[in-house]
Amino acid sequence: MSASSSPLCDLHLHSNASDGSVEPGQLAQDLGHVHLAVLTDHDTLAGSAAFRDGLDSELTPPEGVELSLNWSGGTFHLLVYGNSISTSDLATNIERLALARRDRNLELLDRANQLGLSITETEVLAAAGAPDFLAKSVGRPHFARVLVDHGYAESIQDAFDRYLAKGRPLYSPKTLFGIEEIGPMCVELGFVAVIAHPLSLGVPFSSLGARLREFKQMGLAGVECFYGGYDPKQRGELVDLARDLDLLVTGGSDFHGTFKPGLAALTGYGDLAVPAEVGDNLMERLSRA
Ligand code: AMP
Ligand code: ZN
Ligand code: FE
Ligand code: FE
Repeated sequence: MSASSSPLCDLHLHSNASDGSVEPGQLAQDLGHVHLAVLTDHDTLAGSAAFRDGLDSELTPPEGVELSLNWSGGTFHLLVYGNSISTSDLATNIERLALARRDRNLELLDRANQLGLSITETEVLAAAGAPDFLAKSVGRPHFARVLVDHGYAESIQDAFDRYLAKGRPLYSPKTLFGIEEIGPMCVELGFVAVIAHPLSLGVPFSSLGARLREFKQMGLAGVECFYGGYDPKQRGELVDLARDLDLLVTGGSDFHGTFKPGLAALTGYGDLAVPAEVGDNLMERLSRA
């Protein structure tokens, strides 16, 4: 998959254990030979073992997960990397997040029906390939797929823009924890907490440094600078900011398969290349955490 000759990293990938379309083991195989790749599904580690078993990487991957945190302005997603997250105290919090997600999804269905969008639980579960709302991490992209299938939206992105994005009629939050709780927990457990796609916080770039400095005091260890959805200038500015604050620089595509059309693992929209050094630095940090 990689256009580059030296193996790359991808530290932000979704499988169909959450709202990606590809099986974890298949996703690992599709990557080919990489320096390091980590599966970071939303609120679940269910795909972790199959992904790691199927991966051909130069470094042994840690577990990973992407958590949605309390944040009033925009969106705060935290990527957590660690060597035994699924058996740690953090797993208890992740289970609580999964329950909140189930309740949020049921509310979303109610709201859709009140708006006259006649989508059903069965259809959403089918889109997720899940027998029920707790078996997998069902999310808004699955609702988006069903809205498109009904003709209520033209594409997954259109379904978000019309209905599912923050501030739109079907949006309902599902967060339980803030960085002030999860950050110190990660420090204590030896995990590395990285802010995902930091521009989605909705903080102007001029005050992003001050915010990240506060988060660092609460345990934030790194910043996702090489993000699939960002342009080279944004990536460069984030790298400078992270280095200024002595935070780890990480990167990944945020691959979701058919739920994010056009976005490839490793290469993003064609211009992403997360260097091997980024993986080395993450592993070095984990080894001394
Ligand atoms: P959920 O975990 O159910 O809240 O859904 C989160 C997923 O929805 C993430 O994978 C995002 O990529 C996707 N998403 C969130 N906001 C948007 C948006 N405005 N446009 C497209 N996708 C979005
Ligand atoms: Zn997602
Ligand atoms: Fe995210
Ligand atoms: Fe993601």
